[in-house]
Amino acid sequence: MADVITAPAPARLPVVGSDDTFPIHRIYCVGRNYADHAREMGHDPDRDPPFFFQKNPDTIVADGGEFPYPDKSEDVHFELELVVALGRGGKDIPEDQALDCIYGYAVGLDMTRRDLQGEAKKMGRPWEVGKAFEFSAPCSALKPAAEIGHLDGGRIWLEVNGEVRQDGDLNQLIWSVQESIAYLSGLFTLAPGDLIYTGTPAGVGPVVRGDRLYGRVEGVGEIRITVT
Ligand code: MN
Repeated sequence: MADVITAPAPARLPVVGSDDTFPIHRIYCVGRNYADHAREMGHDPDRDPPFFFQKNPDTIVADGGEFPYPDKSEDVHFELELVVALGRGGKDIPEDQALDCIYGYAVGLDMTRRDLQGEAKKMGRPWEVGKAFEFSAPCSALKPAAEIGHLDGGRIWLEVNGEVRQDGDLNQLIWSVQESIAYLSGLFTLAPGDLIYTGTPAGVGPVVRGDRLYGRVEGVGEIRITVT
């Protein structure tokens, strides 16, 4: 038996210090997972808990590089995020077993067509046009948890053209990594290869062509992209 078409190969992330790669299954993203960011978007984090949406797995820009400014938008924003990569999946994973599912960590950008997302919010429509477009998920190489352990905190910050624009700490996450995995696994069957973008701290803003973005998470790594 043969396939009747040739579909694109799954996207992969490099693993730091190795020739091995991590194939990507799904990309989940947490919305409004830092209180200051929820407030800057006009929401009350005490009333509206975080929630999830997805990006398509082939939107990854592996290890940074060029981010082509997408069509149909005049207001594309950066959102710097800690990314969790699952080596194991499951359903209804208890919080105290969630960390065992993690293969590693990375630094990602949840690039967003904010104008299209805003229209979708207003009309009560889904967010894919704002969130799940090609190249919308630049992500650094993965650092295995076996090497760096797990993270209780650590600075997360983004510079645009050398100027700090986002600056937070992982200890500000409303839903911890464990809580996000446990909650998500009640809604979906998680699988090896899943990525979770864990949400962005305050300071999001627009990019223009030529901008150089440099994001870092202490203890995890860094990502660089140029908007083209
Ligand atoms: Mn985000």
